[in-house]
Amino acid sequence: MSTRTINGGISFWYAQDGIPAPREPLTGDATADVVIVGGGYTGLWTAYYLKKAVPFLNITVLEARFCGYGASGRNGGWLYNGIAGRDRYAKLHGHEAAVRLQRAMNDTVEEVVRAAAEESIDADVHRGGVLEVAYTPAQLARLKAFHAAELAFGEKDRLLLGARETAERVRVAGAVGSAWTPHGARIHPVKLVKGLAAAVEALGVTVHESTPVTEIRPKHAVTPYGTVRAPYVLRCTEGFTASLKGQRRAWLPMNSSMIATEPLPADLWETIGWEGRETLGDMAHAYMYAQRTADDRIALGGRGVPYRFGSRTDNDGRTQPETVEALREILIRFFPQLAGVAVTHAWSGVLGVPRDWCATVTLDRSTGLGWAGGYVGSGVATANLAARTLRDLVQQDSGQSGPTDLTALPWVNHKVRRWEPEPFRWLGVQGMYAAYRGADRRELSTHAATTDRVALVADRVSGR
Ligand SMILES: Cc1cc2nc3c(=O)[nH]c(=O)nc-3n(C[C@H](O)[C@H](O)[C@H](O)COP(=O)(O)OP(=O)(O)OC[C@H]3O[C@@H](n4cnc5c(N)ncnc54)[C@H](O)[C@@H]3O)c2cc1C
Repeated sequence: MSTRTINGGISFWYAQDGIPAPREPLTGDATADVVIVGGGYTGLWTAYYLKKAVPFLNITVLEARFCGYGASGRNGGWLYNGIAGRDRYAKLHGHEAAVRLQRAMNDTVEEVVRAAAEESIDADVHRGGVLEVAYTPAQLARLKAFHAAELAFGEKDRLLLGARETAERVRVAGAVGSAWTPHGARIHPVKLVKGLAAAVEALGVTVHESTPVTEIRPKHAVTPYGTVRAPYVLRCTEGFTASLKGQRRAWLPMNSSMIATEPLPADLWETIGWEGRETLGDMAHAYMYAQRTADDRIALGGRGVPYRFGSRTDNDGRTQPETVEALREILIRFFPQLAGVAVTHAWSGVLGVPRDWCATVTLDRSTGLGWAGGYVGSGVATANLAARTLRDLVQQDSGQSGPTDLTALPWVNHKVRRWEPEPFRWLGVQGMYAAYRGADRRELSTHAATTDRVALVADRVSGR
């Protein structure tokens, strides 16, 4: 890692846009109609839509650090239509139910863009779609199979591009093909979450920061400074959920790390292309994701040390030097002409992975406890759909409305078993990612035309 790299500080997005001024913590016991635990996209969008729907509702958000401290202030800025678990939901609830879920996700990309515009949030939105490239024969085989499966599923607007057409968009070294979908936009994650927190407050929602919830039980959110009592307590803590009492083996906190380069000069951009500013990914097993930022850097992420023993989560975004180096190598593999370019920032965050890799949104009508998450790295748009669904579930439960299209989606009230206890959890995740990294290396060096067997076994064992 170069001495010029700033590592941590929550994320590059905060280095660029500044840490927000702190909001007051809770100062004693309180009551509300709805209390929301966690001030990321899920919690804030939920507060937003609930308050918009029922302006007289008394809503309190309790945030351990500051709004956007978690993945919502650190992500790759892919606002896109992927949702973890769609194919499993098709198996469990039928094809038509999964199609409804996918359509809702496609619409969600539009909804985030629309709502941000309505609230005058300038989040550097660029609607360039999502481009996923293959640069080995095995990746190309997966890409073609993926594209055929998406067409068969009903996603007719996904394009399969050859090497030349790919290069016309982005010149990734050795790329042999790609797939593109229009359902994606690049965003600046922090500008969105900061704007959303301000919009929610302006609507009249109470937001307390520096207020960690130590225990959630029916009608109670307990903090060191007092307890907020409310008929509905909604847990929106995603990758941090395991640190709550009784939740240690719920969603596994998986790390994802990112780097950002210095702004690249125009002559380098001429060699790269990427004028459409698509969000850019690949078909490797330990995949990467990237965006061209509004100020012409490349921000690129991937799996670092995937998981910390005992579901530990955070150290303000610092990541391991070897992870920074591994991400830099991916950057240079994609764009060898960037070998001399400085990596100015590196950071990491946690996302929530359920045992069956299926995102969920739930309201337990007998207790008033609700939650949403387990987005497995596809949460920027999904959190918005989850939030509108939580709104509908709360309104339905409180008799203000009936069932809606959203409450009928197959991910609602989905139950998932817990992760294995330690050390099996740690060993399993380390083993899985070692298997994926090995498979990527072999596919690259052997030019095999099919997916590495070890990766297929890892997929089956992990339930991915
Ligand atoms: C590095 C990285 C890159 C990613 N890139 C993408 C991407 O490009 N596209 C995409 O779709 N998804 C991406 N994701 C995933 C996406 O960012 C998340 O799924 C999404 O932001 C989750 O939002 P959330 O509000 O549910 O959780 P978070 O944003 O993590 O918010 C949870 C909040 O709860 C607070 N909290 C935790 N515990 C408590 C407590 N006990 N009491 C009170 N508050 C608490 C935290 O401080 C935090 O602010 C990425 C994730 C990471 C880490």
